[in-house]
Amino acid sequence: MNRRAFLKAIGSAALLPILPRSLSASTNFRRHRPSDARWPSRSGWKQLDNAVGGNLIPVNFPLSVLKTDPGGAAAKRLSEDLKNPYYIGDQPGLTQTLGWVDAWATKPSVYAVAARNAQDIAQAVNFARENDLRLVVKGGGHSYQGTSNAPDSLLIWTRHMNDIAMHAAFVPQGCEHTLQPQPAVTLGAGTIGMQAYDAVTTKGGKYVQGGGCLTVGLAGLVQSGGFGSFSKHYGLAAGSLLEAEVVTADGNVRIANACTNPDLFWALKGGGGGSFGVMSKLTLRLHDLPEYFGVANFTIKAASDDAYRRLIREFVSFYRERLFNDNWGEQVHVNPDNKLVIKMNSQGLDPGQAKKVWQPFLNWVARSPHEYSLEGRVTIGSIPAQRWWDVQWWKEHWPEIAFPRNGNPLHALLDDGLLHLMRQPVFDFDQRPGVGANNAWWKGNTNEVATFWWGYESLWLPASLLENDAQQRLASALFASSRYSGVGLHFNKGLAGAPPKAIAGAKDAAMNPAVLTAFALAIAAAGQGPAYPEIPGHEPSVATGRKAAERVDLCMNQLRTVAGETGAYVSESNYFEKRWQQSYWGSNYSRLAEIKRKYDPDGLFFVHNGVGSEQWSADGFTRL
Ligand SMILES: Cc1cc2nc3c(=O)[nH]c(=O)nc-3n(C[C@H](O)[C@H](O)[C@H](O)COP(=O)(O)OP(=O)(O)OC[C@H]3O[C@@H](n4cnc5c(N)ncnc54)[C@H](O)[C@@H]3O)c2cc1C
Repeated sequence: MNRRAFLKAIGSAALLPILPRSLSASTNFRRHRPSDARWPSRSGWKQLDNAVGGNLIPVNFPLSVLKTDPGGAAAKRLSEDLKNPYYIGDQPGLTQTLGWVDAWATKPSVYAVAARNAQDIAQAVNFARENDLRLVVKGGGHSYQGTSNAPDSLLIWTRHMNDIAMHAAFVPQGCEHTLQPQPAVTLGAGTIGMQAYDAVTTKGGKYVQGGGCLTVGLAGLVQSGGFGSFSKHYGLAAGSLLEAEVVTADGNVRIANACTNPDLFWALKGGGGGSFGVMSKLTLRLHDLPEYFGVANFTIKAASDDAYRRLIREFVSFYRERLFNDNWGEQVHVNPDNKLVIKMNSQGLDPGQAKKVWQPFLNWVARSPHEYSLEGRVTIGSIPAQRWWDVQWWKEHWPEIAFPRNGNPLHALLDDGLLHLMRQPVFDFDQRPGVGANNAWWKGNTNEVATFWWGYESLWLPASLLENDAQQRLASALFASSRYSGVGLHFNKGLAGAPPKAIAGAKDAAMNPAVLTAFALAIAAAGQGPAYPEIPGHEPSVATGRKAAERVDLCMNQLRTVAGETGAYVSESNYFEKRWQQSYWGSNYSRLAEIKRKYDPDGLFFVHNGVGSEQWSADGFTRL
């Protein structure tokens, strides 16, 4: 008997109200926009506002001023503010990425609930579900794919939910008989990396796995799996998740951990943000700090293509021998101008040990002065790990860069490696009046603020490519890829070489298992500074952008020829990712889809290329 006949036979009219919409709705179910008659009335919105303690806010679009009064003072100020990730994060109507050619451009929601707690979130979820509204969730606003904004939607904005509580001995609810108490931190859903690092490391002397970028939201990061600079040692951010408080599509506030709703818990560990519910709090395991965190920064220019080929080949072998371990993470860039740019981070090595590691490679370079030159300074050094995110410490030890004081000499006690590190300006600061002293971000992330992307792709590189008989193939592919675009090898985003504990945490997460056997995630990307459609003088360069996207694709194709279609990191990947289900989640996808059906049968939570999004139009308004 088919479904229609079945419903008729048992009296469908009586049954319909209790069926989930996925069964009851016609296939062309559409969510309402402000222009629709069924958009909630003023009094409906007023009720929601009352229910969330007056925290329903109409959402402005800050970029409008660039159109309406481009020469005015407000537009000038905005141009400055668009360089500041904290300013952008403070705007419910903006996102850190402004858009992507032929894909999306950021748009404000109609209203936002500036949530304070799980109850506010539940009110917003219920209101959106009952009124058939498009719902969107935003924390740190760092989605490259535009998954935290949607026009004509209701936004749940967690920015101000940033309470942080440290626990000496945390046991997830319901796990009292199965798990040992352990040090942990509970973070409100709006907490960003810098806030977590300040509380946990600077003040607390412990380590929590957040992102490398200091303004990324922890809730979004954990749901994508999430990597920080030292993930080769500590593992995925999701691997440290002990418990989450989550509002599901039915408006219930649930606990998810290894013992309570364990299926939801697993899906939240890398199944993608904005798909399974709204996290209101998350509790992450704390780890011990090593004595030192450090950097190795330098650039080698090769004099010819042949010399560059040899340099890449040498680096691959050097990486395999000396750096393929949990001491070293972050990036090496293989650039089209025959420059190899080293931007690595270390953990657990003092300045002398770190220099010793690199010496053989630097010696190799020095032996061929006609073929290779070092551009700028070689910086290899370490600082006390507890000071890594301590802005005040940096200010004190870094006087002539951060706060010029008439050429004061550097701290005489610093050793040579440290001295070099100090000479690099490492932070940019939020200069708005009255903001917190910790509103700082790594300089290296500055050029990603307010970007309009042209192309962006990632690919996990399996550790088998580091075997002796594969190294030449890898080196040749890297050289070939660099003829099209610069490519970055992010060693902390592949967990081959990580300790067993980090691997175990990642195995128990929903991310594509390819991450376990990859030594690095390769990323190629191109974009332009603040740009937005229809703003004179700031329009995205569409033709240039399309060409750049082609080159990014050709670049990554060279790597695919040796790596295969291993997969991509959901949060740092192509908007137009082919076979995205397989690419982001591999063999985990069918289990994720099942969990999605269980907790969100009507698809209230929709994001581009998220679990279950196949059933919706690209804008998330129409069921297909
Ligand atoms: C400049 C930049 C640097 C980055 N650096 C890193 C890095 O070092 N390491 C790394 O692994 N990744 C990095 N990323 C990717 C980033 O981690 C992911 O995009 C992450 O999802 C961002 O989370 P967010 O809260 O900041 O962003 P948002 O855009 O607010 O959220 C991302 C997604 O998660 C959802 N979401 C957010 N909060 C919640 C919640 N409380 N409950 C349910 N869903 C929620 C949103 O709906 C959206 O779909 C970077 C991105 C940018 C733009």
